[in-house]
Amino acid sequence: MAVSETIACPAAPQQIDLDRCVHCGLCLNACPTYRELGLEMDSPRGRIYQMVGVANGAPITPSYLEHIGLCLACRGCESACPSGVQYGRLVEDARAQIEQRVKRGWLAARLRRFVFVRLLESRAALTVAGTLLYLYEASGLKALLRGVASLKLLGRLGDLAQLAPSAEPPFFFSQIGRTFPAQGNPRRRVAFLAGCIANVSFARLNEATVRVLQRNGCEVVIPEGQGCCGALHVHAGLREEARKLARRNIDAVLGGGFDAIITNAAGCGSTLKEYGELLADDPDYAEKARAFSALMRDVTEFLASVDLNPEMGAVNAAVTYQDSCHLAHGQKVRSAPRQLLAAVPGLEFREMPSSDICCGSAGVYNVAQNQMAMQILARKMQSVNACGAQIVATANPGCMLQLQAGVRLHGSGQRVMHVVEILDLAYKNHAR
Ligand code: SF4
Ligand code: SF4
Repeated sequence: MAVSETIACPAAPQQIDLDRCVHCGLCLNACPTYRELGLEMDSPRGRIYQMVGVANGAPITPSYLEHIGLCLACRGCESACPSGVQYGRLVEDARAQIEQRVKRGWLAARLRRFVFVRLLESRAALTVAGTLLYLYEASGLKALLRGVASLKLLGRLGDLAQLAPSAEPPFFFSQIGRTFPAQGNPRRRVAFLAGCIANVSFARLNEATVRVLQRNGCEVVIPEGQGCCGALHVHAGLREEARKLARRNIDAVLGGGFDAIITNAAGCGSTLKEYGELLADDPDYAEKARAFSALMRDVTEFLASVDLNPEMGAVNAAVTYQDSCHLAHGQKVRSAPRQLLAAVPGLEFREMPSSDICCGSAGVYNVAQNQMAMQILARKMQSVNACGAQIVATANPGCMLQLQAGVRLHGSGQRVMHVVEILDLAYKNHAR
């Protein structure tokens, strides 16, 4: 990447945010990259030092790009910081600044535009990609590649083959625009945001989420006009693209008379709850964005706040829970998923060590920074294996993909499930 120092740069880490850091170092042990590398430059404090340098006129160097790029934006440091440093905002601002000042090569720029604009924002493109993925799986090529990959013969390509999502036809796009009635007495009316890639790769999880909400007295509307939430765009520094997507979702949902807007993806939820900040300077949308964010709930947070329907059958297994970073650190939701798991008869909960340290998924991080992501995953799997649970529960589709790869590479046959999938199973077991 070439660096330009001449372009005006309105996006940048704000001095007021940088000044909050008192350099105490209490965040270091919460940082997955510092735990792996032991390097100050790859710690939250070290990255803040580097951002301060750039804010004071230092050039954006390849070294700066490397250390900011290696950050997972997991916000583990935010939870650990006693001074209230908003590290997530700092790293997003740093990436937005990089996006504006650093010129990418022709191919990298085209590829980025294709993924973030052409693919994630278009139902048609995602459907085509999902169909191609399905054909790749049905041909047996995926199983073959994963088999060879498990022999460690393919290096990085093998790791990427392990991480590739599956296609789950029929895709959930066909449900968008529908309304699902509450079971029993209708108590709430909620909107469900189905995501972008999740419509293709987590269609069954989305269906399970709707069923569990119905069983808990919710009329579930899947509003027409919704689309990608823009979380991946924000994390990549593409703020303007994210704002366009936020406006689209606000127009699709707000005014529908909903008691809550629900997501089952912690990574998306974190950004959806921050639409108010993202559009704070937009005179037409600032107010609407704040109203939208105030209604946003992670599905686990929502279900833990209602009188949970107790008509569940037993799920006889030991379960552990991997905190999704953007739920635990981004949204400060830690107890709700554990509370729901505790409500399932037969389920034995086993806390794993360091459950709130990132698994290495982090949006597209496991593809873009594959080596570090796989190193972090290997360490995570030591914790998973140590607790001896048969089910690894989590609350984010991206974490599920990463943990599934972890089980294939380092595990002992554990089943990776979203918390709502476990509830769905318990409700089904009751009906049997
Ligand atoms: S980010 Fe917070 S915890 Fe880390 S060095 Fe700065 S003040 Fe200390
Ligand atoms: S966001 Fe995560 S990876 Fe980045 S500095 Fe903080 S703890 Fe480390």
